[in-house]
Amino acid sequence: MIDLKQNEVWFVTGSQHLYGPKTLEQVAEHSREMAAYLGSSAQIPVRVVFKPVLTSAEAIRDLCLEANSTKNCVGLITWMHTFSPAKMWIAGLTQLKKPFLHLHTQYNREIPWAEIDMNFMNLNQAAHGDREFGFIGSRLRLNRKVVVGFWKDEEVQSSIGAWTRAASAWADSQGGKVARFGDNMRDVAVTEGDKVEAQIRLGYDVYGYGVGDLVKVVNRVTDAEIDQLVNQYLDEYDVAAALRPGGERNTSLREGARIELGLRNFLQAGNFNAFTTTFEDLHGLAQLPGLAVQRLMRDGYGFGAEGDWKTSALVRAMKVMAAGLKGGVSFMEDYTYHFSASGDKVLGAHMLEICESIASNKPKLEILPLSIGGKADPVRLIFDANTGPAIGASIMDMGQRFRMVANIVDVVPTDEPLPKLPVARALWLPRPNLKTAAAAWIYAGGAHHTSFSYSVTAEHLQDFADMAGIEFLLIDENTRVDEFKDKLRWNDLYYQLSKGL
Ligand code: MN
Repeated sequence: MIDLKQNEVWFVTGSQHLYGPKTLEQVAEHSREMAAYLGSSAQIPVRVVFKPVLTSAEAIRDLCLEANSTKNCVGLITWMHTFSPAKMWIAGLTQLKKPFLHLHTQYNREIPWAEIDMNFMNLNQAAHGDREFGFIGSRLRLNRKVVVGFWKDEEVQSSIGAWTRAASAWADSQGGKVARFGDNMRDVAVTEGDKVEAQIRLGYDVYGYGVGDLVKVVNRVTDAEIDQLVNQYLDEYDVAAALRPGGERNTSLREGARIELGLRNFLQAGNFNAFTTTFEDLHGLAQLPGLAVQRLMRDGYGFGAEGDWKTSALVRAMKVMAAGLKGGVSFMEDYTYHFSASGDKVLGAHMLEICESIASNKPKLEILPLSIGGKADPVRLIFDANTGPAIGASIMDMGQRFRMVANIVDVVPTDEPLPKLPVARALWLPRPNLKTAAAAWIYAGGAHHTSFSYSVTAEHLQDFADMAGIEFLLIDENTRVDEFKDKLRWNDLYYQLSKGL
C-alpha cells in the first residue's frame, strides 16, 4: 500500500556566474555524481533527482514553484558547492511550500595538501557558501533540516534518509483522509481537538460518518467473499478450533470477516488512509471491530480507538515513515504497571486493536468476551510484541498549538506467561526509567494513546514535527524532569509569541 519509490527529492545546487562557465560545468558534474550516489544509497528510500545548477534569482524561484506543483516531489536537498549570494534565494524560498534539507557537505573529502591552489578554493567553498545560505534560512525563519558531513558517509546518508521518510509522511498527510465512525468516546478530553486547526497545520481532513453508513457497506458483503477471507485467516493464523469451519463459533469468525471486508471496501471507495471507531457507537455492527482493525493497520491504515483521530493520523504518518523497514507500527495504549526491583515496567495493549506488524510470533485468532460495549464477543489476534528498542508518540491539542511527545522505551519479554490475558501486548521499560518518563509525560499532558513503533526513530518524528511547525518533546535516556519542566514553560511562551496575531 505504501511505496516510497514513487516519491522524489530534488538535489539542488546553488552557485553563481562569478567563477566562469568552466567552474559551473564542474559544479554540475559533481552535483550530478552526488545526486546519483545518494539516490543509490540503501538508506534513502526515495528517488533523488538531479536539477540543473541554480545561478539566478529567477531560476531559483521557478524551481521552487515547480517543486510546489510537482506531486511526487516531497522536498528539496539544497547545497552550495560554491558561494551563492543568498539574496538570490529570497524570492524562491519565500514561495517554497515543500520541506527542504540543507546538506552542508563538500565534494572533496580531504584537502589535497600538495596541490591546493585558489582554483580549488573557489570551487570547494561550501564552508562559507553554505553559511551564507544558512543565514537567509534563519533570517526568513524557515524550518529546515541541516545535515553536516561528507556526503559518502553512512551517517550523513542515514540522516538524509530519515528526513526523506518524514517528508514522505508529510506529503501523505497533505490531503490525507481520516474516516471517523461515530464520535468521541463520551467525556474523554485528550482525544478531542480542533479539526480545522489540524487540517490547516497538518494537512489531513477528518470526515465524520454515522456507523449506519458503514453498516450498509458491511451488509453488502457476499458469502463467497467471506469464504475466501476465512481461508486466508486459516492460512495466516493459528485459528482457535471453535472458530474453524464446523466449529461452534464459526459464525462469529464469519461476522468478523464481514466487518473487515466492509470496512476495507468503505475505506478504499472513499480513498481514506486512516480511520477511527468507538465501542460506544456500534449500532448495527455485531461486534467491535478487532481483527478487522488489526489487519487494516497491518496493511498501512492509520487507526485510533474511541474516536481518536489525532492518533489515527499519527499511526498513518508513522506507517509511511517506516515503509520498507523492519519493526512495525501499531496503535497502543499504556495500560497497566509492574513496579518491581528489576525495573518498573509498562504493559501496553488495547481492548483489541494492536497491529500484527509488531508481533513476535504467529498470532492466535481467538474469540473471547469483551466486558464493555454490550456487543457480541469479538474475534481478535493475540500475540506478544517484538522485543527491543521502540518509541511511543502522541499528539495533543494544547489549545494554542499541537504538541508531539515521544518516549524511547525498551520492550522486554514478559516476566511470566499471561495465559488469561485476551489481547495482544507489549511490556517495556521506559527510558530513562518509569519515574522520570511518566512524570515528564504527564507534565507534558501526553495522551494514554500512542503510535508505537520499532522502526520509526526520534529523528523521523523530530523532522516531521519541524515540517509541520509543531512542538516536539522527546523523553529519552538524557531526560531530567526539572529541565523538562523548564522546556515546557519556555515553549508555552515561544509558541504564543511566534504566532503573532
Ligand atoms: Mn483507548
